[in-house]
Order: sequence, then C-alpha cells, then structure tokens
Amino acid sequence: MVSALERRVLDCIDDDELIRWVQALTRIPSVWKPGEGIGEEAAARWVEARCQEIGLQTRFEFVVPGRPNVIAAYSTHPSFSIDDLRSDRQSPIADRKVLMFEGHTDVVTEGDPAQWTDPPFSATIRDGRIYGRGANDMKAGLCCALMAINAIVKSGVQLNGDILLGAVCDEEGGMIGIKHFVERGWADRVTACIVCEPEENHVCIAQKGVMWLRCVIRGVMSHGAMPLTGVNAMYPMARFLTMVHAFEEREVARHGRHAFLGQPSITPTIVMSPARGEGEPQHNVMPGAAECVLDIRLIPGQDPDEIARRVEQMLAACVAIDDRLRYELHVIEVRHPTHTDRDHPVVQSLASAYADLTGRPPIYGGVPGSTDGTILHARKGIPIVTCGPGDIHIPHHVDEWVSIEEIKLAARMYVLAAMRYLRVLSS
Ligand SMILES: [Zn+2]
Repeated sequence: MVSALERRVLDCIDDDELIRWVQALTRIPSVWKPGEGIGEEAAARWVEARCQEIGLQTRFEFVVPGRPNVIAAYSTHPSFSIDDLRSDRQSPIADRKVLMFEGHTDVVTEGDPAQWTDPPFSATIRDGRIYGRGANDMKAGLCCALMAINAIVKSGVQLNGDILLGAVCDEEGGMIGIKHFVERGWADRVTACIVCEPEENHVCIAQKGVMWLRCVIRGVMSHGAMPLTGVNAMYPMARFLTMVHAFEEREVARHGRHAFLGQPSITPTIVMSPARGEGEPQHNVMPGAAECVLDIRLIPGQDPDEIARRVEQMLAACVAIDDRLRYELHVIEVRHPTHTDRDHPVVQSLASAYADLTGRPPIYGGVPGSTDGTILHARKGIPIVTCGPGDIHIPHHVDEWVSIEEIKLAARMYVLAAMRYLRVLSS
C-alpha cells in the first residue's frame, strides 16, 4: 500500500517536465565520435545543470578529454558534503545507507539516418512513445532518476540515508566511466544500487557475465605453393574451434538454464588469418598465424578462471602436434555474472513499489548483457538491481523508442524505492 506520506512525495513528480527532460536529453547526440570531437560532454553538462537546479551537490570529472562523469548527491544530514561519500574522508554519514541511481550518458551510433522514420535525435512523440537514439537506452531511465530525486527534495521528506546519482560515460564501450567512478572512491559508501537501464520496469536481479579471450596460434609463414617449407596455423585453429564448440556443449549440460538468464554460451566472434596487425591476406601466402576471439557469456556458478584454464589446455593440445607451433592466450576482459537475492531490501523496495503502483505482482528478470552495475558489483561487492523504463529488445535498434507510461511508472517506482530502502525519519 502507498502511504499518505509516500503519496505526498509522488505528487511532487511533474510528468510534463519529466517528458520534456527525456526529449531534451535525447536531442543531445552523445555518440562517442572522437574524430569529430563528439562525446558525452554536452549531455553530461545538461545532467549537471538539472542536478544543480534541483539543489544537489555535484562533481564533474573528466575520465579522458571529452568524456566526463557527473556525480550528484542529496542528503538531509545537516553536515553532509558530497565528498563524505568517499571513504578516504572522516565522515558524519559513515553508518548511513547510501542508495545509488546509475545511468550512462553515452548512446550507440544512429547508423544510417535514412533508415529512421524520424530524424534519429528528434525525440518525436507518437502513439505514447518518444522516438530517438538513446531515448530507451538510457536517457529516459536517467531522467526518471533525476525526477525521483527532484520529487524527494521538493517534498522535504527526511530520509535516514543518502542518495547518490552517477551519470557516467562510455557504458557502451570499455566502461571507463564507471571504472573511474569506482577508482575515485565514489562507490565506497554505496550500500545498494539501482541501475536504470531499460528493462520494462521488471526487477532484474541477475546479470550474465562476459569474458573475451583472444587466442592466437603461430606456425611458420611460407609460399602457398610450398606449404611444407612452413607450418600452417589454420588447421590447428580449426581443430581448436571444434574443441571449443564441444566445450560449450559440456558447459551448457553442466550448468543448465538459469531461471532468468538462460544458458551460458561460448561464441567465436572473430576468426582470421593472418592475425590482426600482421599483414595483408594474399592468395599465395600461407600466413604465419591465425587468431580467434571468443565471446563467452557466463551465468552464476561458472568460474571465469577455470574456463580460461580449460581454453588454454585446448590451445596447448592443438599445438602439441608440431614443436614449431606456438599459442598465445590474451584475456581482454572479464566481468563476472551477478546475482542479488530476491529478499535483499533494495530488491524488495522496488518490487513492492511495482506491486503497489500497478496492482500487479512484480516481474523478476535477468539481464543478458553486462552493464555498469557489473563493475560496481565486481569491484565493490555492491548489491545491484537493474530496473528502468523501455522495451528490453529495442536498445541499439533503428527507430528506438520508449513508452511514456513506463517512464511515468519508473519515476514513481524510484521514489518509493528510495523512501522504502532508506526509510523515512520524519516528515
Ligand atoms: Zn544502456
């Protein structure tokens, strides 16, 4: 049930303003195009300006030139400073809960604008939807977090904890934004995080992990007419790939299907010879090396270190047939799968909010990809729940859109989640 006090805070949400915010932020093209000097800075400045209007303390930090993070905080503690959130400071808020709302300001490329019904950054409203690159992933979610914090501030409700907003760069790339955020200490006092990614307001408590492995097999380069003067790396690479396929089947059989994430996978996404950066392919040249990249998606229960060891054993077996063959294994990235218990207070605060606002039971789910939340969980052990407005299958598509009804619901869910997770001191 929504209490009278909660109702009073919900009434501080301005839906027209919220929709205007989503449109305004979507109209700032924040695709990372270093050659053209375009990045997240203009979008981040827009977020910072809204935070300052709301009355939040803010910090603006460049991760690399043109790619900033915005950090904003709200507390009703009388001596609070945003820098208290970093643990290298003596802090009056040391034993308070800190709820983080997380979002990214970057969007993926719009592709060919001619394929879009409306210009990709027009934020056109049609049929109860806002259309535009980034509207769904995830400028709507970010604006819902802003509006939820705005409503809490406007209402004057006293919470027994503090709210942190992280609007970071480069989620779609190497996630340098959230990594910098963690390294700077901003996650040190966070006790739970709501990742505002598009999940149709489902309460997503599990995320797949990912590991990218670059596997190189080296032989000896030769003329294609005289292959016996060299050693062909492609046959051992072909054997390696069939072994990887069999290994994937064993992993699926061993770990089965996760209720929200489905089955794990091992997918060769790049297979090439010559290896990258080692010359042009030619019809009559047997290259000296072949490489492949494995995109491995993990579910809880799988151990990335163990998988890397098994892959290495397969590489070793494939080169053992000739002592002139060598292998290399490069671990490009490891992000562990995450899981937060259904009865964790942050999960329950969102789930009860959904139930109370819609009259329907909450829908639990999982995230097939990884998000900034993966980094928060892996590096700081922060319980994360991913929940925000926007159709799950629309991110990165042409004619990306987000439902206005879902936007309105998400902002309200965030208000109730913050009040219920942090708890109200007095009105
Ligand atoms: Zn996203």
